[in-house]
Amino acid sequence: MFSVNQYVKAKTLKEAYELNQARNSRVMGGMMWMRLGNARVQTIIDISGLGLDGIEETDHVFRIGAMCTLRALEQHEGLQEMYGGAIKEAVRHIVGVQFRNQATVGGSIYGRYGFSDVLTCLLALDTFVELYNGGTIRLSEFVSHRPDNDILVSVIIRKRERKIRYASVRRTATDFPVLACAVVTGLLHGEECWYVSVGARPMRASLLEKFWRISRDTDAEQIAAYAKEAAAAFSYGSNMRGSAGYRRHLAEVLIRRAITSIVSEEANV
Ligand SMILES: Cc1cc2nc3c(=O)[nH]c(=O)nc-3n(C[C@H](O)[C@H](O)[C@H](O)COP(=O)(O)OP(=O)(O)OC[C@H]3O[C@@H](n4cnc5c(N)ncnc54)[C@H](O)[C@@H]3O)c2cc1C
Repeated sequence: MFSVNQYVKAKTLKEAYELNQARNSRVMGGMMWMRLGNARVQTIIDISGLGLDGIEETDHVFRIGAMCTLRALEQHEGLQEMYGGAIKEAVRHIVGVQFRNQATVGGSIYGRYGFSDVLTCLLALDTFVELYNGGTIRLSEFVSHRPDNDILVSVIIRKRERKIRYASVRRTATDFPVLACAVVTGLLHGEECWYVSVGARPMRASLLEKFWRISRDTDAEQIAAYAKEAAAAFSYGSNMRGSAGYRRHLAEVLIRRAITSIVSEEANV
């Protein structure tokens, strides 16, 4: 059973960070995951009073506060305008609306869960995390760090001309994904770069960058070959939801469909 000895509502990030340095302290997100565990927490630190629950949009970035809920992420008009339905698609399968009204972006990203749709999706975009002590680093770097006692303050997505597709496969609606995949294309150093993020392998999402030359004239066989190459670059494991071989096959199919969808959108512009 999960138990807590002391609850503190932090007045500043500094106070929250200092409290979090004790071995048995934990920062609270929405508590949706943490409360299912067996931890005996000495001090639980509530950061909900620190103004971190919004999404701020500027000319250059979206700054998503750690306490922003998954539901707010799903419904944000600016994100939908910039990325179509991709971010919404990544979160809409997570349990249900009431759940997403409580689970936070901070808890989802800080946890670096293998099954995370949120991580898989944001990893393929130009995304950074702002840490209280560790500064602002790329999400792709943060993913490989071991969890420590820092505080995730916000998630920052740099606005770039990028096209994104997100898809997942689930055995039943609202279950954890068997496989999750995001494909993004955009310019990097003046060349078109394709970013492929595959999560729920069942290991946590990782990112592949490829300078594929794909245009509206690229034929289906070539796109299929790129998808096969990308899927083969990730490792996969087996669990009760699917075998490694099945996951690799799903990855290939989802990547191919995503590339095809992006290219056909470009052809119709
Ligand atoms: C039944 C169930 C099904 C789920 N299905 C899916 C799914 O299909 N896809 C998916 O992507 N996700 C899924 N999730 C995960 C969910 O979306 C959230 O990611 C998860 O609940 C954590 O978010 P939270 O706000 O509840 O964090 P909490 O449970 O409060 O915290 C999680 C961890 O993060 C730490 N933490 C929280 N906020 C911060 C911060 N700002 N700084 C530092 N550390 C912090 C906490 O100390 C704790 O260790 C599921 C969760 C559950 C319980």
